[in-house]
Amino acid sequence: MSRPTVAIINRQALRDNLALADLLAPASKSMPMVKANAYGHGALEVCKALQNAPAFGVACIEEAVALRSAGIEQPILLLEGTFSADEVEVAAENNFWLMVENEAQKQAVLTSSSTQAVNVWLGMDTGMHRLGFQPDDIGQHYQALRASSKVAKSIVLATHFACADDLENPATTEQTNSFQRCLSVNSISADENTELSLANSAAILGWPDTRRQWQRPGYMIYGNSPFPDAHENADQLTPVMTFQSAVISLRKVKVGESVGYTANWKAPRLSTIATITVGYGDGYPRQAPNGTPVLINGVRCPLVGRVSMDMITVDVTDLNEVGIGDKATLWGPDLPVNEVAKHCDTIGYELLTRMPSRVPRIYLN
Ligand SMILES: *Cc1c(COP(=O)(O)O)cnc(C)c1O
Repeated sequence: MSRPTVAIINRQALRDNLALADLLAPASKSMPMVKANAYGHGALEVCKALQNAPAFGVACIEEAVALRSAGIEQPILLLEGTFSADEVEVAAENNFWLMVENEAQKQAVLTSSSTQAVNVWLGMDTGMHRLGFQPDDIGQHYQALRASSKVAKSIVLATHFACADDLENPATTEQTNSFQRCLSVNSISADENTELSLANSAAILGWPDTRRQWQRPGYMIYGNSPFPDAHENADQLTPVMTFQSAVISLRKVKVGESVGYTANWKAPRLSTIATITVGYGDGYPRQAPNGTPVLINGVRCPLVGRVSMDMITVDVTDLNEVGIGDKATLWGPDLPVNEVAKHCDTIGYELLTRMPSRVPRIYLN
């Protein structure tokens, strides 16, 4: 007795996807990114399922505190570092690692009242132009941090790619070269106390030259490809989430009759319409146009009519038998979220991340 709209999370797939990151870069440590509630999958459950991961990455200290309070023991990297100086002490006490990417963050670390040293990741802007110190100045920042008793002995130098999902784009190689050039100009090399980190999912899967001591897989952990086209590594991933609902009503609609709000779809033939109890209030995108695929009993059928808050309507005229209670899949292993996202002019990352808590997460395996 409950609404059949759920997100089923396959924990074995999570572990398998992380194992692929490890397999592709056996000399690297893979830190799963669990920001934004683990891309909608449930951060705590994802961390628990990936208990062998060496560390996790989040966007802010609130996300890190929630995981620590719930018993997650690994180091947790704050990818944007601190937003205010008082976070440094909390970070040091809790073994949260800090990205330090601007002067204010650096000063907050150097002048912190903490008695414990904090682990620092020094962020370099090699071309994304969003966060990070200029490569030319890295030597000076690195030395200042190195010399401080507030900073743990091991420092990671990191950068982030803007275009790694585009395998034809030279920007990734340019950013990698800029990173390496900066290190060599400043006589910084990887050693036991200096580690490097460049790769996100797309780089792990598609840019072998970017693999270093640490990699930061996000989207791939959840089993989705960051690439628009087929790719030999990405195609080994297994989607972790199955977003599932069910048929709650069926009707015949005559030629010329419309379905749903704004009447933006009119039946071109005598049609059978199935109403599914999932809508934009559940994270199914309202911009999904007529024709977006929905699996009904595993068969692709076109969405017709506007997405409502709590319902959608699907044309099941071509299916032999459909009944109330039959399964509807919005995305999952048999219908990649990327494909739905493409119809909606967005990316799968956004669809997953925006799934609200209204949709119960059910954890399998
Ligand atoms: C989110 C994030 C990642 C992971 O990106 P994916 O494309 O999901 O693999 C890696 N590094 C940083 C700095 C990030 O913010």
